Amino acid sequence: EQALYVVATPIGNLGDMVPRAVEVLQTVDVIAAEDTRHSARLLDHFHISTPLVAYHDHTDEKQVEALIQRMKAGASIGLISDAGTPLVSDPGYRLVRRARQEGIRVVPVPGACAMVAALSASGLPSDRFSFEGFLPPKSGQRLNRLQPLAAEERTLIFYEAPHRIQDCLKDMATVFGAEREAVMAREITKTFETIKGGTLTQLVEFVAGDPNQRKGEMVVMVRGKPKAQDQGLDAEAERVMTILLQDLS
Ligand code: SAM
Repeated sequence: EQALYVVATPIGNLGDMVPRAVEVLQTVDVIAAEDTRHSARLLDHFHISTPLVAYHDHTDEKQVEALIQRMKAGASIGLISDAGTPLVSDPGYRLVRRARQEGIRVVPVPGACAMVAALSASGLPSDRFSFEGFLPPKSGQRLNRLQPLAAEERTLIFYEAPHRIQDCLKDMATVFGAEREAVMAREITKTFETIKGGTLTQLVEFVAGDPNQRKGEMVVMVRGKPKAQDQGLDAEAERVMTILLQDLS
């Protein structure tokens, strides 16, 4: 039956592959994958022999339309990425959007997602959060992106590459303040899983002092700005309040 299945795969530990993901990937007509060679190993492990095609959001339009036409003709497609949930800092957006425009059923098969796993173990407020994905690689652009987030009260979640973690944490300390609470979650579900919390300054020192903390995959979470009532009035609010009170008397 025509459908696009958006299928999550593990972010390290193969035990996190959900049974329904295996079933769906075994039965669809074709699997669209970010990197077919990488995915071939995962599929092999689960005895899935469904044909693979490469898919990227920057794939030329013709390929996206070819997949859409295949589904309109009755085929079912499973979309996977290299790890975790497709479309979360991974390809799939254009295909899902086009499928829904065409009235094709889009079915999520949920499973691992690094940002959700990281947040769930962070101890940071999780009732409201903002997922910010990857920051720009260059410091100037990174600072520009961070600046408007300095006043954000929700927990902020970022993906970061290991070779940039140190510079990234330093820039965060500059923009959010050295004392802002943060948590770094590294190698989730893998052998060297490390979830480390502290102030941004402490995290900078932590990664500076141990090269192993600059390896692998990582999620950085920053506590939102404390609400005004938690930190007292700032100078401007104090000034306005004084004027208002004078008016009243
Ligand atoms: N779609 C994936 C998901 O659902 O999490 C994310 C893909 S994104 C291209 C890869 C980034 O996710 C890594 O650079 C890292 O920030 C984060 N990530 C993926 N696996 C991770 C893991 N096991 N531990 C910590 N972070 C991970």
